[in-house]
Amino acid sequence: MQLRHLAQRAPSAGLPEPTRSAAPPSDKPSGPDPKSILNSIGEVIYDWDIGSDRLTWGPNVADVLGFASAGDLATGRSYASLLSATSKDSRQEAIAQSQSVDQGSGVPYHVCYALEATNSRGRGAPVWIEDTGRWFGDASGKPVGAHGLIRVITAQHEAAEKLQERSRVDPATGALSRASLTDHIEQLLERSKQRNETFVVLLAAIENLFALNRTYGYDAADQVIAAIVARLQAEMRGSDVIARYSGNKFGLVLAGCDGEQMKVAARRFIETIAAAPFQTDVAPIHAALRIGGVIAPRHGRSAQVLFCHAEEALDLARQSGARRFAEFEHSLSAADARLRALRTADDILAGLNQGRVTLAFQPIVRLACGSTAFEEALLRLIMPDGTIAGPSALLPVAEKAGLIGLLDARVFDLALARLKEDRGVRLSINVSAATLHDPDWPERLRNAVRLAPAAAERLVIEITESSALVDIEATCAAIAAMKSLGIRVAMDDFGAGHTSFKNLRRLGFDLVKIDGAFIQNLARSPDDRFFVRTLLDLARHLDIATVAEWVEEAETAHLLAGWGVDYAQGNFFGEAQLVSTAAASAAA
Ligand code: C2E
Ligand code: CA
Ligand code: CA
Repeated sequence: MQLRHLAQRAPSAGLPEPTRSAAPPSDKPSGPDPKSILNSIGEVIYDWDIGSDRLTWGPNVADVLGFASAGDLATGRSYASLLSATSKDSRQEAIAQSQSVDQGSGVPYHVCYALEATNSRGRGAPVWIEDTGRWFGDASGKPVGAHGLIRVITAQHEAAEKLQERSRVDPATGALSRASLTDHIEQLLERSKQRNETFVVLLAAIENLFALNRTYGYDAADQVIAAIVARLQAEMRGSDVIARYSGNKFGLVLAGCDGEQMKVAARRFIETIAAAPFQTDVAPIHAALRIGGVIAPRHGRSAQVLFCHAEEALDLARQSGARRFAEFEHSLSAADARLRALRTADDILAGLNQGRVTLAFQPIVRLACGSTAFEEALLRLIMPDGTIAGPSALLPVAEKAGLIGLLDARVFDLALARLKEDRGVRLSINVSAATLHDPDWPERLRNAVRLAPAAAERLVIEITESSALVDIEATCAAIAAMKSLGIRVAMDDFGAGHTSFKNLRRLGFDLVKIDGAFIQNLARSPDDRFFVRTLLDLARHLDIATVAEWVEEAETAHLLAGWGVDYAQGNFFGEAQLVSTAAASAAA
């Protein structure tokens, strides 16, 4: 470009020829008007005599900068006073810090900075400048003058900022990064101080991402993660924000939301993810979320505290069964929870020692005729005060304290005793992942069954999808060991995890129990009906018998029977009940 060339040309000798104020256009009888050409490309040339600090500008400077008064531009110092606090560089520094020596043709410099005009209303919006020129030195090499050109690049700067903003985004999902999430929360906290507004932070965890990766491969799992973000975004309001908090967790910020709205929103998010599988290159994959929520600033006045409390809420959500959502409770702060957990672990040990671990039985009926096919034996602990503790209070603590294997073993002994005691009884029991993958478990089973071979044939062992997928090889071996003893094996909570068709076939289940969360609202939810029918098709294709859990209404039972579901369990047919049996006391 001609003007750039003009600005960077080498001086004929010594100091560059100062750019005199251009003559007014009327003095130029012909040819293009240089002022309007310079204006049209947003550039101005200048000379800076460093000795006297005098700055001389091209005639279009006021037009290009749009704000500066002559006084602001008259000297290097006054020009520097316009520098915005946001810009890190300046022309002075670029020249002063130059390592080069002027060999006679000047030393080039190139620097970008922002200027801010001061007017009666204070400082205006920053104008970004690209400043390119050459400085010239005296005999000792000290800079004595500079000749250059400035160009307004505000639009380009904003575009570059946006680009940088994009790097604040998780590239795999398009959600914000965790750092951006933190910034956003800090900003909202700041705003809430002034406007007394509350907002909500949700931590949403994808269940069994580990199993998903193992089963379908990382590419398919990545596709699911990206699709989850897209589906959540479709449910969010314009002011809401979603970010990748960690590998399997998203942070959602819902501005202007209170506690009630938080519950409704979390439920909506959970439902939309469970509503339909995600299409991937490998297979349609189901995903499920658990969500922990906090309300800011009530539950924390910094992003870090809010995250910490949202993690605690997420832990509660993990223990909440089909609810899948929990709000942070101050009374359940980490210290309290640890204390309670310690007490519960003591309670469990004492219960095991004192024979207070017992079973509740819930019938599983044949849908075709309503007769009881077998009963599920469910863990209960009778507390010293006579109250009954159930699995939701016991299992998370037992798992953390390493007591789950002892509980499962006791439940197995109790169930076996009942089977031996009453030959008309058929039972199912639950075993946890820890038991399933315990190398001593098959041996323990074998020893127990050797003494009561007929009992094994009347026993079903239920394994949840999620524990089955922790280690497919180990699960396969454990299932084979159980089946070789005549025990039948059921997949529990089917639909809540991510079982692939392949794994379901490979693991050789005799029964699948469709997760109650999809049955409970069957009569009212077309999505649930669609999903359950898909699960049934899959089971039927593999020739596996089906059980529907949590049947609470006649209409649901009727629907399921119409679809050919084999068995049903739920409060409609009978709640889980403690039965005092001779076997219970004997086994204890
Ligand atoms: P699960 O295996 O899915 O057991 C069914 C749970 O659903 C039982 O809760 C049962 O009381 C409940 N339920 C049954 N019908 C209905 C209904 O119509 N509506 C609703 N809302 N709920 C219904 P429970 O006894 O609290 O057990 C919870 C979970 O704890 C069980 O879920 C199972 O995963 C686990 N569990 C129970 N006993 C044992 C055990 O001995 N060992 C292990 N490892 N886990 C156990
Ligand atoms: Ca079960
Ligand atoms: Ca279940």
